[in-house]
Amino acid sequence: MSALASLPLTSSTSSLHRELRGGEFWRRIPAYADVAERDFRDHTWQAKNTITNATKLVAALRGLAPPELVADVEEGLARSPMSVRVTPYVMSLIDWEDPVADPLRVQFIPLASRLLPDHPELALDALHEQADSPVPGLTHRYSDKALFLALDTCPVYCRFCTRSYAVGVDTEQVEKVSLKVSNERWARAFAYVASRPEIEDVVVSGGDAYQLRPAQIEEIGDALLATPGVRRIRFATKGLAVMPQKILTDAAWTDALTRVVDKGRRIGKQVAVHTHFNHPSEITAVTEEATRALFGRGVIVRNQSVLQRGVNDTPEVMTTLVKRLGHVNVQPYYVYVHDLVRGVEDLRTSVDVAVRIEKHVRGSTAGFNTPLFVVDTAGGGGKRDVHSYEHYDRETGISVYEAPSVKPGRLFTHFDPLHALSASARQRWADARERSAMIGAALAAAGGGRRAESCA
Ligand SMILES: *Cc1c(COP(=O)(O)O)cnc(C)c1O
Ligand code: SF4
Repeated sequence: MSALASLPLTSSTSSLHRELRGGEFWRRIPAYADVAERDFRDHTWQAKNTITNATKLVAALRGLAPPELVADVEEGLARSPMSVRVTPYVMSLIDWEDPVADPLRVQFIPLASRLLPDHPELALDALHEQADSPVPGLTHRYSDKALFLALDTCPVYCRFCTRSYAVGVDTEQVEKVSLKVSNERWARAFAYVASRPEIEDVVVSGGDAYQLRPAQIEEIGDALLATPGVRRIRFATKGLAVMPQKILTDAAWTDALTRVVDKGRRIGKQVAVHTHFNHPSEITAVTEEATRALFGRGVIVRNQSVLQRGVNDTPEVMTTLVKRLGHVNVQPYYVYVHDLVRGVEDLRTSVDVAVRIEKHVRGSTAGFNTPLFVVDTAGGGGKRDVHSYEHYDRETGISVYEAPSVKPGRLFTHFDPLHALSASARQRWADARERSAMIGAALAAAGGGRRAESCA
């Protein structure tokens, strides 16, 4: 009883996470001013009106943004490794009064004026997904888990996609590896999983499970549930964050997913959805309806965010995101330190920022709704708790991790973005000899004689 006065009743973020945007917010966009609610809430309308190329985007931006910004976008698109794809829902959530700073604009629409040169240690398939693939589109890096890339399209294309080597159509910058839906490729992947009894957990990703037809969801679900060793399946989709309408109006898709979940439950196997929200404003009243529908059907939804500069790299925004996810029954699972991905150096943050934000998030809500902050190490070491580095030099921005259960005896390096470093450190990175000296010093400090796996 006497403890009642010990906590302040409100703090700046205490109820913000419950204030979800509702109403007809899309009508502020000239192109959608006359769109009725039943259309905007319909996934077929969303899909049909999705902006799928530079020409359409530029057309949509006229009247919405000043000509200088449109030119900046055109130039940004020409230099981007990802093709453009944005749903009307996302377009409507962007604050067009201040598009440069808007956290959704930042994720989906590049501005040339904001781009920064890539880090010198960057590679296109930074996570070695292709190197760890026994069959095309199946990555087997962790002994009991496999990552199945079912297809190569998504309902949107994120600028920062880790799989820009494969996802989306070719751009001026990148010719993609093909991971199309193919019965033969799928059959080889399922056969591989069946041949490795140690695989208990399969992530079905891409691309994006939203793009799979209902029959394909069931085909994949049935094949994997029928594999004796497989105990857990996750369908990965960004869809909930960019087109929640589909859950509500694509009954065939949602029913197919639910059937797989129910079938799994009957035989003691867990089937979950993993999604990808990065900013609280991506969670609206429509999202809440969609996640409520999934919750009602007993579908577990977890979230993986990417820590991004200008999107969610403050304690306030990240805490609101985490609490808002919990509010709509989506469990925050991971926050990734941004991988070294081509063309998005402006979005990366340092390990130091991740460590500091994590400190604020932990304690703000239920522990089971508190995400683990991880670095997905280049070179295939896999995900490591950001705090678990063997060595971290905040001056050079080099952190070094071990992954004894994934690739024992090796060291894995991660590099903070140069914009987070001091001017003198940036100068050292500009010099190739200094570069290898810095990396060598970090590896020596981390673990002496162990073999180093650099991402180059
Ligand atoms: C992330 C990932 C998984 C799943 O890992 P969890 O830590 O269980 O989420 C599996 N395989 C690969 C290659 C991955 O990158
Ligand atoms: S939805 Fe996922 S796979 Fe698709 S572009 Fe975005 S990050 Fe890449």
